[in-house]
Amino acid sequence: MAFRQNHILDTPIEYLKGVGPSKAHLLRKELQIDCFKDLLHHFPFRYIDRSQLQSVQDIRFDGQFVQLKGQLLFYEIIGSGRSKRLVVQFKDPTGSVELVWFQGISWMEKIAAQGGTYIIWGKANIFNGMWNISHPEMEKVEDATKLYTGLLPVYSTTEKLKAAGLHGRAMAKLTSALFLHLKENDIQEIFPKELIHTEQLMNRSQAFKEIHFPSNGLLLSQAIFRLKFEELLLHQIGICKLKLNLQKVKGYYFEIVGEHFNTFYNQYLPFSLTEDQKKVLREIRQDTQRGIQMNRLLQGDVGSGKTIVALLCMLLAIDNGFQACLMAPTEILAQQHYESISHLLKDMHISISFLSGSIKGKERKDILKQLAQGDIQIIIGTHALIEDKVVFKNLGISIIDEQHRFGVAQRAKLWNKNTLPPHILVMTATPIPRTLAMTSYGDLDVSVIAHLPPGRKPITTFHRTEIFRAKVMDFIKQEIQQGRQAYIVYPLIEESEKLDFENLINGYEQVKQFFPSHTYNICMVHGKMKADEKDQNMNAFVKGKAHIMVATTVIEVGVNVPNASIMLIESAERFGLSQLHQLRGRVGRGAEKSYCILLTGNKLSQTGKERMHTMVHESSGFAIAEKDLTLRGPGDIDGTRQSGVVELKLADIVKDVAIMEKSRNAALKILSIDPNLDLNEHQLLKEILLSRKDHAIWSHIS
Ligand code: ADP
Ligand code: MG
Repeated sequence: MAFRQNHILDTPIEYLKGVGPSKAHLLRKELQIDCFKDLLHHFPFRYIDRSQLQSVQDIRFDGQFVQLKGQLLFYEIIGSGRSKRLVVQFKDPTGSVELVWFQGISWMEKIAAQGGTYIIWGKANIFNGMWNISHPEMEKVEDATKLYTGLLPVYSTTEKLKAAGLHGRAMAKLTSALFLHLKENDIQEIFPKELIHTEQLMNRSQAFKEIHFPSNGLLLSQAIFRLKFEELLLHQIGICKLKLNLQKVKGYYFEIVGEHFNTFYNQYLPFSLTEDQKKVLREIRQDTQRGIQMNRLLQGDVGSGKTIVALLCMLLAIDNGFQACLMAPTEILAQQHYESISHLLKDMHISISFLSGSIKGKERKDILKQLAQGDIQIIIGTHALIEDKVVFKNLGISIIDEQHRFGVAQRAKLWNKNTLPPHILVMTATPIPRTLAMTSYGDLDVSVIAHLPPGRKPITTFHRTEIFRAKVMDFIKQEIQQGRQAYIVYPLIEESEKLDFENLINGYEQVKQFFPSHTYNICMVHGKMKADEKDQNMNAFVKGKAHIMVATTVIEVGVNVPNASIMLIESAERFGLSQLHQLRGRVGRGAEKSYCILLTGNKLSQTGKERMHTMVHESSGFAIAEKDLTLRGPGDIDGTRQSGVVELKLADIVKDVAIMEKSRNAALKILSIDPNLDLNEHQLLKEILLSRKDHAIWSHIS
């Protein structure tokens, strides 16, 4: 039973001293601060340390952040229109700097006119031979010392809020008013005593106070630790609960390893399995003989050999009297799986079939009938397989390739395809860093193929800037003359489909200039094409009829053209590292030496350079994914957007792995003694979980 303890924290924000209806409206709209509790959770992003004052003569380099204490002297307004600005002379005992405002000029002018002693903070730049700080944060010295003694909080805010007088430091006044309003136990502890004790956590009330108004650096770091722990623990309880529930779902027994598996393994397997592949098979074997449904994620870099693992799993299912299905996100990929698996099984008596949206009429009817009768043992296909009309006689395992194109809901649809839910294996080539494995995919058990099969030729990666375009094209010509094929890929710019398309068409025209149509066959594939046309063009390339395929990232997933030895990526700086890695994995599949060329603009940002450097020197998808996460932050990584990970306010899934691990263990421990959080000491935790905006995950399962 949920019960409300803390009415006061639910008080609407307009009732806070200094807010009122219009500011409340803005706070809601701009920062989603609706009530006292939300303000409490609007944490400072930075602190000003009063003890760390610099003086003007200490400013050493362009771009240095400094905190200065001095006086506002004369000011003037210079320029007009867009370049209109207010320039204030600011002086301390060692020298002077210019403070500049381009916005809020009239408001600042009033302040400047009054003069006075201020502490300012900002980035010093050299301008006309003078130190110049634009839009510094500033505070009158009298006000500052009156209100605070320790580290001063600075809050994120927005232009609209600033215009209403709620700039970063004014937000601090609100928080401060809130704390004056709250009584000692208005912020109640939600953690059980034991957890506080074992992890030596600061208590909740103190942590909130210290994070907003730190007494000193040590207490601040303890407060941050405590609140990150809290954030991650709540998150992990949700995920672990889901996982625990999955572990209780009854599933089919695959008791034996039988004739199909053994015959294939001993007679038709074209190579010996790598140690990693064997390990994964053992894990799956264990999962499928417990009487519990398997929910496993198989991660393996592009080309690591996941398909054969999938095939062996399907044979295992057949040996135990079940049917198996393998589902891929695109028609082409499904078709390729169908062809290669049919080929591998050609001398065995196994009935295998293909189903996709393009299979219609009588053919489709027959397939559905045979599936329902159990005449088809293995079915390979697209989304078409999860439609309600597709009924199996006895489906034992569903394998989903390239999982990031399938949502959780689609996965769940497979559950209903038999009396008990079939075992589920999702395979992804998008390597998932450890932190994400604990968060977005935290409900699945994870298997990893860490090493590629032996004998792969490494792909040579170059980074070239625009000025080398002609040379790059000549290089591609040479390769084509030797019988190879090349991909040329253009980025998708999410904001504008129209721009994407123009981008691609311009690119296509440009490619045609380098590769005249009387000598070269060029095909094009993009997301806006009709499926038929796409398949037709894709097939021209697969069959070797086209020399060059110009494409958007639609080719990212799974196409296998061993003869293609060049992957040219246009505007490579626009792609995520993991995506570049996926694209690169399209080549290096045949006997020929392969190349990946990253073409970028002539000017690159520092991170841009670092990213290209990573691609050139790093071939492991896992290392690249980790790097991607540190360079870009979690928001952009495939699959994280819907995972809720990015909604973490304090914790950073890259930097806070250690806290994440601790909180995960704590979550598991709590759930192991009290799976539904019924105990008294867990009531407040439960209440918070149920009241959260993202509570679906929790209410769904409890
Ligand atoms: P992915 O994991 O990207 O789906 P695939 O399953 O398509 O990779 O395998 C890539 C290639 O490696 C295939 O041509 C496959 O036959 C080959 N392969 C897989 N396992 C082995 C192995 N143990 N030894 C040698 N080659 C292998
Ligand atoms: Mg694959």
